[in-house]
Amino acid sequence: MDLRFTDDELAFRDEVRAFFRSALPDSIRRKMIDGHHPSKEDLVTWSRILNAKGWAVPHWPVEWGGTGWSPVKQYIFREELQKTPAPEPLAFGVNMVGPVIYTFGNDEQKRRFLPRIANLDDWWCQGFSEPGAGSDLASLKMTAKRDGDYYIVNGQKTWTTLAQHADWIFCLVRTDSSVKKQEGISFLLVDMKTPGVTVRPIQTIDGDHEVNEVFFDDVHVPVENLVGKENKGWDYAKFLLSNERVGIARIGISKARLQRVRELASLERIGDVPLIETPRFREKLTAVEIDLKALEMTQLRVVAAESRREKGKPDPASSILKIKGSEIQQATTELLMEVVGPFALPYQPEEDGRNEPFDGPDWASTAAPTYFNWRKVSIYGGSNEIQKNIIAKAILGF
Ligand SMILES: Cc1cc2nc3c(=O)[nH]c(=O)nc-3n(C[C@H](O)[C@H](O)[C@H](O)COP(=O)(O)OP(=O)(O)OC[C@H]3O[C@@H](n4cnc5c(N)ncnc54)[C@H](O)[C@@H]3O)c2cc1C
Repeated sequence: MDLRFTDDELAFRDEVRAFFRSALPDSIRRKMIDGHHPSKEDLVTWSRILNAKGWAVPHWPVEWGGTGWSPVKQYIFREELQKTPAPEPLAFGVNMVGPVIYTFGNDEQKRRFLPRIANLDDWWCQGFSEPGAGSDLASLKMTAKRDGDYYIVNGQKTWTTLAQHADWIFCLVRTDSSVKKQEGISFLLVDMKTPGVTVRPIQTIDGDHEVNEVFFDDVHVPVENLVGKENKGWDYAKFLLSNERVGIARIGISKARLQRVRELASLERIGDVPLIETPRFREKLTAVEIDLKALEMTQLRVVAAESRREKGKPDPASSILKIKGSEIQQATTELLMEVVGPFALPYQPEEDGRNEPFDGPDWASTAAPTYFNWRKVSIYGGSNEIQKNIIAKAILGF
């Protein structure tokens, strides 16, 4: 299998790279390099720049704003975006609910929601997990009972990322409790402003507010917000989760962070010697770089095979990408902690409104919060243990 890019693909890479360099506002780029989270406004600004260029939703059907690019070009686009580093478009809209709507939604839903997702006019969040229904998602209990033209929704979602900014939430709800658990689930779109919806923050180990609990008390949702057929939501959820794993290896992000580690380790000194020249550090850095190269080769093999696969059927090898990708992402944050050394120790949450200067170089303040925050990558999108179960069944045949 030839994994080299063609001349056309290399020209495309140069075009994409040049656009990202010139179009991404400097203030956002600086934040991304220093490891800060882009704000809601940053993401809206950047999404609209991409949308104006026609690149906000490249993988969607052309009639809804897609580009018709091959899987290889889409891979190049994602990698260049991450390497810039630029914010990734809001996945909950662009990669999750958008494809569900254009695949299973009715014409009215497509017209109403898809253009607003592409332009980030609506901020979406994902209401799947509940207390007691994470890995075992089909056990979810939140109910939606039909009453005339409405569903009455009651229950709780949890770990809902960025729900504090959301206009809409897509939910898996139980519409039939009398059948096998996968067969009584529906896919419902809920306006976050509906009376009875309450968002409560969960503070994570890095001190940040990224995830939430969302409570639903007698929330009236119009039946027109049901996607597809009642009780068929599990099929749509499986389709969505297979899309969630596309690009989950996030190779460009790891490349950008290793580049940053290299730069900073050249500035930091152990006595007279730059850290990057000490044998122990070089050995660790090189080990991660080799793992990343191997992961990139695996990703390219999956991308090359993608065009031959049935649509909507994920390659089980994407579970390998998820496991290795998250391990490498976490390893890069560990390397950064080593570069920062004792300056990683002070507690420096991003959102505490402090007015004292940080004790150490400016770039050091995000190392520890990032290290702690990125423990999440081996949990979300299907935990690494669950991915190992998939590999055992789908690849090894156990
Ligand atoms: C930062 C973050 C953001 C998230 N954002 C969202 C979001 O926006 N929307 C949303 O719906 N969800 C979100 N999630 C939830 C995420 O999908 C779940 O945390 C994940 O599916 C694991 O479920 P759980 O937390 O209930 O853990 P559990 O399922 O209770 O698992 C606990 C541990 O047991 C292991 N385990 C469970 N079952 C098995 C098994 N069969 N075999 C082997 N090991 C097993 C797991 O790997 C894990 O280590 C987010 C999670 C995090 C951490």
